[in-house]
Amino acid sequence: AHLDRIAEVDGSLHAFLHVDTEGALAAARAVDAETAEGRQASPLAGVPLALKDVLTTKGLPTTCGSRTLEGWLPPYDATVTRKLREAGVVILGKTNMDEFAMGSSTENSAFGPTRNPWAHDRIPGGSGGGSSAAIAGFEAALAIGTDTGGSIRQPGAVTGTVGVKPTYGGVSRYGLVAFSSSLDQAGPCARNVLDAALLHEVIAGHDPLDSTSIDAPVPPVVAAAREGLNGDLKGVRVGVVKEFSGDGYQSGVLRSFEAAVEQLRALGAEVVEVSCPNFTLALPAYYLIAPSEASSNLARFDAMRYGLRVADDGTHSAEEVMSLTREAGFGPEVKRRIMLGTYALSAGYYDAYYGSAQKVRTLITRDFEAAFQQVDVLVSPTTPTTAFKIGERTGDPMAMYLADLCTIPSNLAGNAAMSIPSGLSEEDGLPVGLQIMAPSLADDRLYRVGAAYE
Ligand code: GLN
Repeated sequence: AHLDRIAEVDGSLHAFLHVDTEGALAAARAVDAETAEGRQASPLAGVPLALKDVLTTKGLPTTCGSRTLEGWLPPYDATVTRKLREAGVVILGKTNMDEFAMGSSTENSAFGPTRNPWAHDRIPGGSGGGSSAAIAGFEAALAIGTDTGGSIRQPGAVTGTVGVKPTYGGVSRYGLVAFSSSLDQAGPCARNVLDAALLHEVIAGHDPLDSTSIDAPVPPVVAAAREGLNGDLKGVRVGVVKEFSGDGYQSGVLRSFEAAVEQLRALGAEVVEVSCPNFTLALPAYYLIAPSEASSNLARFDAMRYGLRVADDGTHSAEEVMSLTREAGFGPEVKRRIMLGTYALSAGYYDAYYGSAQKVRTLITRDFEAAFQQVDVLVSPTTPTTAFKIGERTGDPMAMYLADLCTIPSNLAGNAAMSIPSGLSEEDGLPVGLQIMAPSLADDRLYRVGAAYE
């Protein structure tokens, strides 16, 4: 049914870069056979899922939305991919994304944009717009995204779906093509909180193949979601982040947020206002740290090891082949980040830019620590605006970057955060997201509060 739905709508939505019809049917048949024998690999066995094209899939294309990796067939599965397969989850295909996960609209994909199922002239968010659009458009029941600065939560917010960035280190990065290694985190996308929790449990856990993977038990996210479904938040302290409102926020978003806070109070939560003064510095710090790491990570696309190679005609030096290939293979946003990051890391500037950004990162982490002394979770709007129009911000990178104003602090601090639908904006009728943030390794709190609110 999902493959039929993809055939019906993906011509206009373009959530998928690659649909693996045969692989999906084979995986589904394998689950059927096991079920007939009375076995079931996991509660998600047989459930169809859309996988962001930044996670490697053995023998299936993995492009990261870039010409650089067009036609490349990875020789191995990412740990997330392997865990999905072992759980009997049916991988339908790979979803569209901003090139190397750099963007907030999926317009930076080398293979054309994805459309928002709610309004086809609107962006589905990014960088994981394909994953969120696939579930919002009923092409898949579940999806996997990755979130470096908001790329799971912001697409979730603007497509009216659930998106979770687990605690950094909670889900293995092995086989996740690196953008900014100290920020990248894979996580679940779903249409409700319990589905997200079930998927979270399948993909999470310690992995010796990822040196930043946390060797601790997976937070009890499914139990917490079930507890939340009782709709009782008595004893839960919720902090409203004071800094995330005012100029730049649509009134429809702010009104939806105020209504959400009222509802949390009505469910029994104790609501207080909390100040995190350094959160206003998160965006500039992120746009130094993420491009710096990207400039280093993307050095591997050198035309020698894998991927695109141009000018390989015997008349060019190896260095020319490298630079001509990078010129041809990377899009404008990727080049902008590589240049920015290379500049920020260069001798003489390192302390002023990268060093300062790292200090701000520490201050933001301390703001979270102080806030979580007072409250169990923090809440804010996920994004300042609803889905903007395709083309509206492509000429203005700064406007594009503002989409992640509220999501970036949790990446810098490495803690857990979720976006859940909080109704439609009364201004334009488009979905609004409520962001919930929890301390590191307390991902279960997101699910309890999220399920109660939902
Ligand atoms: N929009 C942010 C960026 O462009 C975040 C992307 C992400 O989370 N991968 O960097």
